[in-house]
Amino acid sequence: MLNASGRFAPSPSGPLHAGNLRTALVAWLRARSLGARFLLRIEDLDPQRSRPEHEASQLADLRAVGVDWDEEPVRQSERHGLYAEALARLDAQGRVYPCWCTRAEIREASRAPHGPLPEGAYPGTCRELTAAERAEKERTADRPPALRLDARAEQVSFTDLVHGEVESAVDDITLRRWDGAYAYNLAVIVDDADQAIGEVVRGDDLLDTTPRQLLIARLLGLREPRYGHVPLMLDADGRRLAKRDGPAPSGRELDELRAEAEAITALFIQGS
Ligand SMILES: [Zn+2]
Repeated sequence: MLNASGRFAPSPSGPLHAGNLRTALVAWLRARSLGARFLLRIEDLDPQRSRPEHEASQLADLRAVGVDWDEEPVRQSERHGLYAEALARLDAQGRVYPCWCTRAEIREASRAPHGPLPEGAYPGTCRELTAAERAEKERTADRPPALRLDARAEQVSFTDLVHGEVESAVDDITLRRWDGAYAYNLAVIVDDADQAIGEVVRGDDLLDTTPRQLLIARLLGLREPRYGHVPLMLDADGRRLAKRDGPAPSGRELDELRAEAEAITALFIQGS
């Protein structure tokens, strides 16, 4: 672990709320307590939702709670070459297929149960198309296809630092959207390997995505990080704070988080 890094990877689609900042602090404290480096990655894959002003305010809030990092943050929007190369390698293994389904079609198709796949998973409608059907779609579709992973419902298991043994079947996730944007699961695992991330500490709302990322890592022979999915912060009504409904942190919240981190850091120093 000493040579590997920890990381925090926010999407600049809005301000970080107190829950995001707390997760960042936990990841930072964990990395620092292991003597590891800590890196930031800006997950701005979606050009429609990413704003430079949100990135700036997120970095300022991270500094305000005492998080620091060891290299200039990288931006996913500047790393498309890496994702294209990974996609080409999956394609060369026969693991990529085009999908023309609309949102409504996917919703409809994913209602039916599909063997080992979790509820709501894409059942692979377009995987079954014949060459002639594919050619017909290509001719008549009014937009380019998305590209999906032929996951073959593979079972992926891993040991989470918080949740213990986790296992699930992977569905045919999107690798690249029809508009050309690379998908989260592809970019994240390529970046974690490229940045030599040894341990990923993040909110447990992402626990379900980890088998998908690990399947891609295993197919590509990428280095696999260890994972710790920590509980999310709850609001006064006991609901999980989500970025879209969380308010920007107040100055008082920033001060409280910083004080909490300093208290924990002091404990580590006393204990060492
Ligand atoms: Zn499809």
